[in-house]
Amino acid sequence: MNYYSLNNKNTRVSFQEAVIQGLAPDKGLYFPEQIAPLSKSFFESIDNLSNEEIAFEVIRQFVANEIPESELKQIIAETLCFEFPCISVEKNVFSLELYHGPTMAFKDVGARFMSRCLAYFNKGKDMKNTVLVATSGDTGGAVASGFLGVKGVEVVILYPSGKVSDIQERQLTTLGQNIKALEVDGVFDDCQDMVKKAFLDTDLQYKNLTSANSINIARWLPQMFYFFFAYKELKKYNKPLIVSCPSGNFGNICAGILAKKLGLPISHFVASTNINDTVPKYLENGIYDAKPSIATISNAMDVGNPSNFVRIQEMYNNDLNEFSKDFSSYSFSDEETKIEMQKIFSNTSYIAEPHGAVGYLGLKKELATNPDSIGVFLETAHPIKFLDIVEPVLNIKLEIPKQIESVLGKEKIKLKIKNFSDLKQYLSK
Ligand SMILES: *Cc1c(COP(=O)(O)O)cnc(C)c1O
Repeated sequence: MNYYSLNNKNTRVSFQEAVIQGLAPDKGLYFPEQIAPLSKSFFESIDNLSNEEIAFEVIRQFVANEIPESELKQIIAETLCFEFPCISVEKNVFSLELYHGPTMAFKDVGARFMSRCLAYFNKGKDMKNTVLVATSGDTGGAVASGFLGVKGVEVVILYPSGKVSDIQERQLTTLGQNIKALEVDGVFDDCQDMVKKAFLDTDLQYKNLTSANSINIARWLPQMFYFFFAYKELKKYNKPLIVSCPSGNFGNICAGILAKKLGLPISHFVASTNINDTVPKYLENGIYDAKPSIATISNAMDVGNPSNFVRIQEMYNNDLNEFSKDFSSYSFSDEETKIEMQKIFSNTSYIAEPHGAVGYLGLKKELATNPDSIGVFLETAHPIKFLDIVEPVLNIKLEIPKQIESVLGKEKIKLKIKNFSDLKQYLSK
């Protein structure tokens, strides 16, 4: 399978090259050259298949013969080593919980899949890759855990000093081995800028830098699995299915749309956002106006210029009318989110953290005009990861899950940096 750059369709690379490069040399995102729908019999028998079997069918055409079948199955088994329960919250509303992995964020799946693909490509070679990643909180932990101990790969995580929670900081600073944490004197955008600069820096090319954000196809593509898992559970209701994704960089929802291209019967998507409303505004008035991000309580979605949006546009040939048939996008304030968290909890006793609550709000809005449908929202993080908000808003005390407990007592190891020249010096050592 080849991938082309969205900046120039003549730039074509293999799956392996796309994974190793992350971003194309012309800075475009990679996109699969072909998308072949899955067979009717696959969808008919999906309820009899395990998650691993489903995932294999879904991903195989995108990897093609670049990883042998048995190895790919092994990678999938290690990627999906936890549960993805689809919980009934109220009539016609379900929560697909994506947070039961090692770092309790949905990003575990993409990080685990990508790290194992890189490890496969490096096997037996004297190749070294450096995965460089900027995090506002959740990505860093998932990438650290997903890449821990992977041979030939060094991971360098940049995070903004004082802007991530104590649990998040521990998840990315306490693992050791091939995982290095840099505490940046600045905000998330500063971290992101430094990472971008490093990718462009010709002096650093020998480091084989790659990205582990959802721009990397090996982190993005496996997110398709979730939508198939949801369908498997909800098929029996025999109603049109609406899926709401709490969206930041739009990687998740973009994977959902690709799943639909493979034939998955999803009737409508909702991209639910916080007040970072670039996409909802675009659907309203046709103008895509990227803005600096605004801080909210659902901070993993504080993105003013969603990087995967170009991939969505590609799938609809930039035709806003076609796009609007399949896709809605709604924005919600922190106040609305908190009120909804309380309502969900008092009406159903379900605990939604802020990202999930935004997803729920978007889903309910869409269901209001489609009463014959059923809907699922993605719950993208465990409430404990946003304990500073969940506990006071719901007036409850959360139990600490074992995944989190295991990092609490460990020592944080990190290096403080101030600017790009510090980063460059660190990488060149
Ligand atoms: C990353 C993240 C999101 C946003 O996902 P995108 O694929 O970037 O749209 C939502 N919720 C949580 C908890 C996240 O960590």
